[in-house]
Amino acid sequence: MLSFEEFSVNCARVRERVAEACRLCGRNPEDVRLLPVTKNHPVEAPLYAARAGFAAVGENRVQETELKRSEYFTQSAAPLRWELIGHLQSNKARNAVRLFDRIQSVDSIALVQKLERFCDELGRERLPILLQANAGNDPAKFGTGDFDALRSLTEAALSGAHLQLDGLMCVAPIDDDSLETAKRCFDTLRIWRDRLETEFGRPLPELSMGMSHDLAPAVAAGSTMIRIGTALFGERDYSRP
Ligand SMILES: *Cc1c(COP(=O)(O)O)cnc(C)c1O
Repeated sequence: MLSFEEFSVNCARVRERVAEACRLCGRNPEDVRLLPVTKNHPVEAPLYAARAGFAAVGENRVQETELKRSEYFTQSAAPLRWELIGHLQSNKARNAVRLFDRIQSVDSIALVQKLERFCDELGRERLPILLQANAGNDPAKFGTGDFDALRSLTEAALSGAHLQLDGLMCVAPIDDDSLETAKRCFDTLRIWRDRLETEFGRPLPELSMGMSHDLAPAVAAGSTMIRIGTALFGERDYSRP
């Protein structure tokens, strides 16, 4: 695990990259939030994030979060929100409703219905979510890959009593160095978001897109949240349980 000082240097570097990407497309860097992704890193990662002033972190597995989150709150009194950015299996949905402040990876109508039901059962009034779309049409990615399916999913999410639909999320396909494929994917997600806003007459402000290697095209396409792991915390340790 890196030191807090090294982490702070990495934060400054990432912020510099965001500022440069914003400068190139005329956006305000304050409109692009940074979500530190702490998956496969020990509890120090969320502790560093909170100490540096971040309000939330991203994790991709329910069980790993359950352990890390309770460790975090034994060691720190600083409030921190936890967002799920990885695929959610339906048998973990109940626990996810207990643990996460927001779920970015909602990708099926069945999951929407499960989350609604568990909110009811667990007495959770509001659960913010994003819908994960496979805007790059990548067979290796989760999320719905066509607009009509995304429209149906949106309709289901909006009809729930507890789910609060904030916007869309995507993971771009692995790309070559030109990032052309990633750029197309992000542009598509933006277009889909704009269409849904028009069709449903409702704002969907959050566009969660862009990671360590492809944040620049994501910012250019209108990302409001980049999810950054490696560039902040270094390589992940996959031998961690
Ligand atoms: C791991 C992960 C990230 C962070 O990726 P880095 O390349 O390490 O920045 C972002 N989004 C999702 C969905 C992830 O699973």
